[in-house]
Amino acid sequence: MNKNDWTDSSSCKDFDTNLFFDKYEEDLNLRPAIDKLCSECPLARHCFAVGVSQKETGVWGGVYLDLGKPSREFGRHRTKQQWAETWQYLTTDKGNK
Ligand code: SF4
Repeated sequence: MNKNDWTDSSSCKDFDTNLFFDKYEEDLNLRPAIDKLCSECPLARHCFAVGVSQKETGVWGGVYLDLGKPSREFGRHRTKQQWAETWQYLTTDKGNK
C-alpha cells in the first residue's frame, strides 16, 4: 500500500512497506503474521477497497492482490476457514470508511 493520509491510523503505519510486497512474496513464514496484522487493522475494508479499485499489487486489506485481484499464488497458504474469516472482517464494519 502507498503512504497517504488514510494510512496514518493503520496498523502498519510504522512498518517496512516491503513487508507487504516482496517480503510477503518471498517468505511463507511471514505471511500469517502480516495476515493477522491486517485482520486487526481498523482500516482493512478501506485498504482492500483501494487496492481493488486502483488495481494494485501487494497486500491490501490483508489480501495479496495482483493488479487488483486476489492472488491464488500468494493466498494459497490460507485454509478455507482462514479465507472465511478474512472475508468476514472485510465485510464487517469496524468503523473504517
Ligand atoms: S489492512 Fe494491512 S496493509 Fe492495509 S492499512 Fe491495514 S495493516 Fe496496512
